[in-house]
Amino acid sequence: MIKDAVDAVVKMIVAQKDYLSQLDAKIGDGDHGANMVRGAQAAVEALEELNDSELEDLKKVLQAIGEAVAMNVGGSSGPLYGTGILEAAKVADKNSALDLETLEKLFGAAISGIQRRGHAQKGDKTMLDSLIPIYETFKAGNSAGKNLVTVLTEARDAGRDGVEFTKTIAAKRGRASYLGERSIGFEDPGAVSSLLIYQTLCGYWIDSLK
Ligand code: ADP
Ligand code: MG
Repeated sequence: MIKDAVDAVVKMIVAQKDYLSQLDAKIGDGDHGANMVRGAQAAVEALEELNDSELEDLKKVLQAIGEAVAMNVGGSSGPLYGTGILEAAKVADKNSALDLETLEKLFGAAISGIQRRGHAQKGDKTMLDSLIPIYETFKAGNSAGKNLVTVLTEARDAGRDGVEFTKTIAAKRGRASYLGERSIGFEDPGAVSSLLIYQTLCGYWIDSLK
């Protein structure tokens, strides 16, 4: 069920709140965990408004979550995540199957939305530094005709490498960019939250395929 996957993400965000804020305290203003929890709570409330059949409709669920996150979370990450989720909703089908083609489409749309809104590129030390490698792994795996679980796992590793990479670079977007070179040595909180969300979904999907 889609709702179970969302609940798993919400639970993870609540558990990681302090960790995400601590990461943000090093190169930003220390509110990333609180912002993520606010988004998660808004998403839960939005899903309470949907009926059982709507809750099985990926397009409706993504739309409800995207609107809730975009409207209720201050900070830069809320509107960025919200836009990404809303763009994914646009390309989602009512009965989206969980296959690589769908994942490539959803992540591709989300990343384009985040980039249109925030003008960041890969290597700017943002959430895109884990999201883009994950997307690129779906794309490569899809065109190579690889097995779904293999690619889900490879994408998780690519996302982890992306987070590691953010430690080595200076921020060019967002609050951390005020620190310039002094942001080197720290991982980007948004890249970490994106990876954690993907890891949670990935774990859920792999379990559901068993
Ligand atoms: P704020 O920076 O407003 O306090 P958060 O702390 O919740 O908001 O989120 C910070 C994260 O937002 C950063 O770690 C980064 O990943 C992401 N971010 C900031 N600006 C951009 C941008 N222009 N494009 C993509 N992601 C961004
Ligand atoms: Mg912050």
